[in-house]
Amino acid sequence: MAYMTGLTRAGQPWTPQFITKLNHHQCIGCGRCFKVCSRDVFSLVKRDELEDSLDDEELDDEDFDDDVLYVMTISNVDDCIGCGSCAKVCPKNCQEHAPLDLAA
Ligand code: SF4
Ligand code: SF4
Repeated sequence: MAYMTGLTRAGQPWTPQFITKLNHHQCIGCGRCFKVCSRDVFSLVKRDELEDSLDDEELDDEDFDDDVLYVMTISNVDDCIGCGSCAKVCPKNCQEHAPLDLAA
């Protein structure tokens, strides 16, 4: 597979890890990923509004924690630069990241 790569300042290749998913059931709405992302990829939304917008498969028979009023969503996935900062600050490991397969 051929993945999208970039270069460090020293000219060394590195492979960006782009966000692909965010698990709303694990999210506690702490906002850390929102604050650390320099690309405005995330939006904080009311949990009950998100539930209304999900289909049955996405709800996956799991109930949200009633104490969680807000959850994070991915609103601008194409603006992600694959820096991985959101994964480092998330206390619940909500996000999944992957390199971009240029052949896909
Ligand atoms: S990987 Fe970086 S740019 Fe992409 S969503 Fe996370 S913090 Fe934002
Ligand atoms: S850092 Fe994790 S738990 Fe906190 S809002 Fe973002 S996805 Fe949710």
